[in-house]
Amino acid sequence: MPTTKCLENKLLSLGARKGVRARSFTSFRIGGEVAFFAEPNNADELKSLLAAAKCCDYPVHVIGNGSNLLVSDEFIDALFIKIGGGMASYFINGTRLVSDAGALLCTVAKASVSAGLGNMEWAAGIPGSVGGAVAMNAGAYGGEIKQILKRVTFFSNGRLITRDVCDCDLGYRRSAFSWPDAVVISAEFELEKDDGLAHARMEDYNTRRREKQPLEYPSAGSTFKRPAVKDTYAGALIEQAGLKGKRIGGAMVSPKHAGFIINCGGATFDDVMNLIGFVQDAVYKNSKIMLEPEVRIIRG
Ligand SMILES: Cc1cc2nc3c(=O)[nH]c(=O)nc-3n(C[C@H](O)[C@H](O)[C@H](O)COP(=O)(O)OP(=O)(O)OC[C@H]3O[C@@H](n4cnc5c(N)ncnc54)[C@H](O)[C@@H]3O)c2cc1C
Repeated sequence: MPTTKCLENKLLSLGARKGVRARSFTSFRIGGEVAFFAEPNNADELKSLLAAAKCCDYPVHVIGNGSNLLVSDEFIDALFIKIGGGMASYFINGTRLVSDAGALLCTVAKASVSAGLGNMEWAAGIPGSVGGAVAMNAGAYGGEIKQILKRVTFFSNGRLITRDVCDCDLGYRRSAFSWPDAVVISAEFELEKDDGLAHARMEDYNTRRREKQPLEYPSAGSTFKRPAVKDTYAGALIEQAGLKGKRIGGAMVSPKHAGFIINCGGATFDDVMNLIGFVQDAVYKNSKIMLEPEVRIIRG
C-alpha cells in the first residue's frame, strides 16, 4: 500500500525520518533509500509506530543493528524501525541479566564477564543487538542464545506479552521471537558464576575472530547457514569448491574466511545476490549440498 500524506504526517510526528539510505544502517554498507526510518526511545513509541503503519496496511521492517541484513538498492516503500540505542538499558541481579532489545550484545556480554558471570562470553564478538540475537538465536564457539534465554517481553499483534521461553521457541538461527511474528522488547538471561576463566575465554574468542574473520571489510558475518550434515561447514565447502577470492563486482568470497562474502568496495545488492547464487551452484556441483543463506534479504 503506498504511503498517504496522512500516514506520512503521523510517522514524521512520531520521529520517523524520510529517505534514509539502508547502507547507513547495515554492516554490509549496501542498500538504497527506504521511505521511512525510525528509532523509538521506548515501547510506547514503538507501539505507536507499529499501530500507525498497521492502520494503513503499510509495510514495516523491524531491525536491530543491521549486522545480518542484505537490503536492496532499489527504493523500498516501507517503514524501517530500528530497535537500537533508545532502548538499550540492562541490569544484572545475581546470575540474572535483564536487557532491553536495543542494547548491543557485545556490550551486555562484556558487562556480564565484568560482573563475575560466565556463559555469555562467547557472544562478546557478535555485532548485533540483543533483540537481533534473540530473533536469530545467535551463537558462536559452542554457545547460543537458546542455552541462556529464560524470558522474553515482546509485541505480537499489538499486544505486549512477557513469557517464559520453551524449548521449541528457538532452533538453529531461528526463533519464534522474530519479526514479523514478534518484536523483542527485552530479554532475561540466566548465567552462571564465573569459573575464573570467562575473561580469558572471551579474549581468546575475540583474538580468533580477528585472526580468522575479515573484520576489516563490511559484511553480514557468515553468509550461509551451517548445512544439516554432521561436521560440515559452509566455509569449508566453499573453499573446497575453489571459491576463495571469487569476485563479482564489489562482492567477494573472503580470501581469509570463505564463509564470509565481503563488500570490498562499492558492492551492490545484485553483486552479492549473484555471488550467493554462484557459490550455491558451485558448491552443489562439488559436494551435492545446497547452501542456504543465513543473511536476511530485504527486497524493494
Ligand atoms: C563481523 C560479523 C560477525 C558475526 N558473527 C556472528 C556469530 O559469531 N554468530 C552469529 O550468530 N551471528 C554472527 N553475525 C551475524 C549477526 O551479528 C547476528 O545474526 C546478530 O544476532 C544480528 O543482530 P542484529 O541486531 O544486527 O539484527 P539485524 O541484522 O538488524 O536483523 C536480523 C533479523 O532479526 C530481526 N530482528 C532484529 N531485531 C529484532 C527485534 N527486536 N525483534 C524481532 N526481530 C528482530 C530482523 O527482522 C531480521 O530478520 C556476525 C555478523 C558480522 C557482521
